Amino acid sequence: MIRITSFAGRRVAVFGLGASGIATAKALVQGGADVVASDDSAQGMKAAAEAGLKTADLKEANWAVFSALVVAPGVPLTHPEPHWAVRAAKLAGVEVIGDLELFCRERRKQDFDVPLICITGTNGKSTTTALTAHLLKAAGRDTQVGGNIGTAMLLLEPFAPGRHYVIECSSYQIDLAPSVDASVAVLLNVTPDHLDRHGTIENYAAVKAGLVYGAQKGVVGVDDKYCRAIADKLIAAKGAENVTRISARPDADCDVGVAGSKVVQRKGGAATVIADLAGIGSLRGSHNAENACAASAALMALPQPLSADEIASGLKSFPGLAHRMEELGRAGRTLFVNDSKATNADSTEKALVSFPGNIFWILGGKPKAGGIAALTPYFDRVAKAYLIGEATEEFAATLDGKVVFERCGTLDAATAAAARDAAGADGAEPVVLLSPACASFDQFRNFEVRGDHFRALVKALPDIEMKRGDA
Ligand code: ADP
Repeated sequence: MIRITSFAGRRVAVFGLGASGIATAKALVQGGADVVASDDSAQGMKAAAEAGLKTADLKEANWAVFSALVVAPGVPLTHPEPHWAVRAAKLAGVEVIGDLELFCRERRKQDFDVPLICITGTNGKSTTTALTAHLLKAAGRDTQVGGNIGTAMLLLEPFAPGRHYVIECSSYQIDLAPSVDASVAVLLNVTPDHLDRHGTIENYAAVKAGLVYGAQKGVVGVDDKYCRAIADKLIAAKGAENVTRISARPDADCDVGVAGSKVVQRKGGAATVIADLAGIGSLRGSHNAENACAASAALMALPQPLSADEIASGLKSFPGLAHRMEELGRAGRTLFVNDSKATNADSTEKALVSFPGNIFWILGGKPKAGGIAALTPYFDRVAKAYLIGEATEEFAATLDGKVVFERCGTLDAATAAAARDAAGADGAEPVVLLSPACASFDQFRNFEVRGDHFRALVKALPDIEMKRGDA
């Protein structure tokens, strides 16, 4: 745990008592603060009390006694309207911050040589965070990884000289961290998302931009107009030498980009090859090329950069993240891929374009607005579709006359049917792909449970060779 000492001897309110809120409260207590923990839910209050924290209903509180209100990222700051605790704190002139702000203040206070890489973007945060941490570890660097991915950031190992921190940041966390100052910050992309919390796309982009503005060096994807504008302003403010523009588009004007399957650094017209992504199954698709460019650029921007050789060799051993185009294994020529995280058509598009054809596509669940109509341009890559869940009739209507499909009902039936058909297929390497383009809630608790179930079904197939040791 990282003890937060900047509020030692002072009283702090912590609101929002999920796992990260409880970790935050404990980190403050261990650093000497007098913490009052609170939540709207009885469950949160109970969890905090069980963790040995002092709890109180802050509705009746005298806010003047608090030095800060530390809120969990899920607590609305401005939209759709400020949470009552945020409003009360602001009325009393009490600052409202989050765990990322505490982390950064403590890092400054302890003043160790602790490289901090913060990663944000609408899509690809977790993959880029995991990849960046993997490359550092593969190069032998002492590395901690957490934040929005996995471990709450204040539960990471304490600061120590030379220890690297790779932190995935949601826009909510950035919004609560006015003095965030990463060594290197990555902004991958901005597309409309979470507008319920940020009001407009402009506000949302401005919040994300705060991460790169605060950093010593910025890495910005320039494949969307919001990020292009941010990159231009950042260069004007910090100088081009402190900004790396990345892109996954073949002829983009950028500093780190792609040439065929290669990640290249471009300087003054010349391109130097950093690494080749060909054959790296965990980094298929141009979205992953963007993630690889971002991770490489971030690591080359560190005060003690990784070398191109270190990056190239680390990329080859990246295992990928579960449920995101995860290669599960093979049965004969057939590859089985778990893309359960693809809960909308946009994400499934990434998977369909990553395979040239012969896709035996399992899809369905609880449909999203718009369904799969946007995927029509990729239907020619699909050998056959296997429909499950509530979306069956809607998706059948979209596929009708364009793709051969079968109504399977359950994932179990779909997996068996797809495996059977793929085993008998000719042509390019057949791929049985679970990329549902739907939420899972009609049949599973969440996308992880759905993906885990698929993995178990694949594992039980005859002649299967699973990829991961324990998979
Ligand atoms: P996040 O943490 O931002 O949700 P993930 O790394 O978990 O992102 O990836 C989630 C999904 O987003 C992937 O399954 C893929 O469909 C899509 N994706 C990943 N990287 C990118 C990217 N760089 N650009 C666009 N979409 C991406």
